[in-house]
Amino acid sequence: MIDLCSLENEPMLSVEAARERIAAALEPVIGVEKTALKYALGRVLAEPVCSPLDIPHDRNAAVDGYAFSSRDIDTAQAFRLHLAGASWAGKPFQGQLNAGECIRIFTGAVLPREADSVVMQEFVTVDGDYTVFPAAVPARRFVRETGEDVKSGGILCGAGKKLTAIELGLFASAGIYDVVVKRPVNIAFFSTGDELTGIGKPLAPGKIHDSNRYILGGLLTDPCYCAADLGVIGDDMRQLEDALSQAALNHDVIITTGGASVGEADFITRILERLGEVHLWKIAMKPGKPFAFGKIGKAFFFGLPGNPVAVAVTFQQIVKPGLGRLTGLMPASPLRIKAMLTAPLKKEPGRLEFQRGILTQNADGEFFVASAGGQGSHMLGSMSASNCYIILPADCCGVQANEPVWVEPFQTSL
Ligand code: AMP
Ligand code: MG
Repeated sequence: MIDLCSLENEPMLSVEAARERIAAALEPVIGVEKTALKYALGRVLAEPVCSPLDIPHDRNAAVDGYAFSSRDIDTAQAFRLHLAGASWAGKPFQGQLNAGECIRIFTGAVLPREADSVVMQEFVTVDGDYTVFPAAVPARRFVRETGEDVKSGGILCGAGKKLTAIELGLFASAGIYDVVVKRPVNIAFFSTGDELTGIGKPLAPGKIHDSNRYILGGLLTDPCYCAADLGVIGDDMRQLEDALSQAALNHDVIITTGGASVGEADFITRILERLGEVHLWKIAMKPGKPFAFGKIGKAFFFGLPGNPVAVAVTFQQIVKPGLGRLTGLMPASPLRIKAMLTAPLKKEPGRLEFQRGILTQNADGEFFVASAGGQGSHMLGSMSASNCYIILPADCCGVQANEPVWVEPFQTSL
């Protein structure tokens, strides 16, 4: 266990340093399970998977056309070959291809051993039992070689990969029907705060609806996690202590929101001092400065700020890479691109900012970005309108229009 030293008298912790401390403290969960391929989407592969077959399994045609051997033919000139039969996908040509012969062939159909070329059907003419090929047809083309994608015994996918639809298809093409994946990480989460009211109930004066549990519930909807929503706990020492110590008994991770600063009603940090080895960090990021991390019993604890935008940002930037390490995921940096700012952005120096932006692309493929609106850490409306973070370094004092900025898009396609 690393030294989770408290930072009360220290300068703020950089986002990078916070990620590193968390990564150093977390060990991937040990358990693995065998899962049928069709249930493996989104799970983390626990061991490398090798192909028991060559892929493609047979030499086959890449197009519909006519297959022949170019060995004894001068393809610079037009030529005629006798049509000896056909090879269909799933129904190979049974005979032997002799000199002077060709066969009709369809995409994916096995090539006769003697054939080395396929010519697209559009280029030939049929003359009775003969096929007429024009001059200068390309030879040795449109043949998919055995094992050209993956050789038998070769690695299809390494451990630590989060399986996408593509890996499911790849494994299926090798005839693999089950895979060994990491067990899901068990995560408990709850919101804290006396002001919180469940949705569907009218708001009494001074109360607000609890949005954080819906954000976290959404962010934790992932086949790698088994997430339990423990509801809302008021600002009450006993209740919070009970909830945390109970949750620590049967979860790998506990995530809470609110109560992580040093205000009067912020019990979490005081309780944590008693229950485990947890410390409050001031992370040099905006939104998201107050952040607690550590251990309660065997469970890792992440105490997020109360404001909803800060919950989303700290989860994505700090918690998610940590959970990735627990689930055994290979570390990967999020895609970041440079985009031209279309209007100036204000910023105080001191903290790395994740401003919410709207990223667009013109017909030439150039990226442009503008603020999505209000940048308050309570403003989910403007976050909903955004499609990226605009990342402004800690020492930045604002950016002028027509200057490039780093942008992290929210969505990737697979
Ligand atoms: P705290 O960190 O508990 O001081 O909360 C900071 C701000 O976030 C306050 O304005 C809280 O009312 C708000 N907040 C805390 N928890 C939630 C929640 N679950 N949903 C929406 N807002 C919240
Ligand atoms: Mg609170």
